[in-house]
Amino acid sequence: MTPLAQLLIERIREDGPISVADYMAECLLHPVHGYYTTRDPFGAAGDFTTAPEISQMFGELIGLALAQAWLDRGSPAPFTLAELGPGRGTLMADILRATKGVPGFHAAAQVVLVEASPVLRRVQAATLAPYTTGWLDGVEDLPEQPLFLVANEFLDALPIRQFQRGPEGWRERLIGLRADQLTFGLSAPLPQIPETLAFRNAPEGALVEDCLPARQTVAGVATRIARHGGLALIIDYGGWQSQGDTFQALRNHAPDDPLAHPGEADLTAHVDFEPLAALAPAFAYDRQGEFLTRLGIDARAERLARNLTGAALENHRAAHRRLTHPEEMGSLFKVLALTSAGAPPPPGFA
Ligand code: SAH
Repeated sequence: MTPLAQLLIERIREDGPISVADYMAECLLHPVHGYYTTRDPFGAAGDFTTAPEISQMFGELIGLALAQAWLDRGSPAPFTLAELGPGRGTLMADILRATKGVPGFHAAAQVVLVEASPVLRRVQAATLAPYTTGWLDGVEDLPEQPLFLVANEFLDALPIRQFQRGPEGWRERLIGLRADQLTFGLSAPLPQIPETLAFRNAPEGALVEDCLPARQTVAGVATRIARHGGLALIIDYGGWQSQGDTFQALRNHAPDDPLAHPGEADLTAHVDFEPLAALAPAFAYDRQGEFLTRLGIDARAERLARNLTGAALENHRAAHRRLTHPEEMGSLFKVLALTSAGAPPPPGFA
């Protein structure tokens, strides 16, 4: 049993069952035993790999899309160049390298990272060393100025609640104890449920997820962009509407029981984009494969392939396929672009 499992079992024994959101928050960000607070989980030796860790092309194309949007909006200066949940800092490093040649972009950019993990803040500081970066605890602290922002696999880490519709109405899925082990259960019928689009038309028996922190985060970003202009690119796995139970754990690159190793497995849920898109004055939405293809990933891949041979070339081709192919990340991952009303269309969308 993990040390955090012990703590959670004691807490539930004293205070009763907890929500999936409380469980997720403790597992990911507990100050002593949390998954993100205690480790660098990325890469072959870690638990999972993300798009920027698969290939430099991902960050390069995102960087050029943000810079193009900045030029299209009249090159506002100063502006915030922000990333939510930057992991190892790889994506921001690729963005900054790819945009070096855009006149005035770096001079006007104030680079800001929203990161909860002290361990990962140190890794990001090392990755981004030549650049001056600031760290924030949340989007509410973003400066009041034009905002160009990226968030890759950030919202999937924010705590969700789960609700199930039965004959007597909605109940919340909770985590309690059976024979001193963590187990799923249901609350008594609820007088009220969160008011998101995801609950609309749910049939009896349906399980619906709600991520309040995701809606709060996107609302904070959308407000800045509505006031001052800019563009946010939010990339994650998920779909337009709630897709049932998507609460999942990943440990050593393999699926795990989400209750089995609290604090030692990555916990996520798929992102529902419709309730998030509804928070912005204007938006665009597509699959990652189409988005990267429109931004020119095929040409960039060919250019990089010219300098590669053997295993390196094979890895590069596999990375290109992994990011774009519908059977890999191309369809499962979606891109939501948030802009202000009447702004030029964001690069990478039809
Ligand atoms: N964007 C990176 C990492 C994704 S993992 C990549 O694509 O590789 C999720 C990241 O979000 C980690 O950096 C994690 O520490 C951070 N994070 C998770 N929950 C957070 C929260 N509530 N507030 C701020 N950062 C958080």
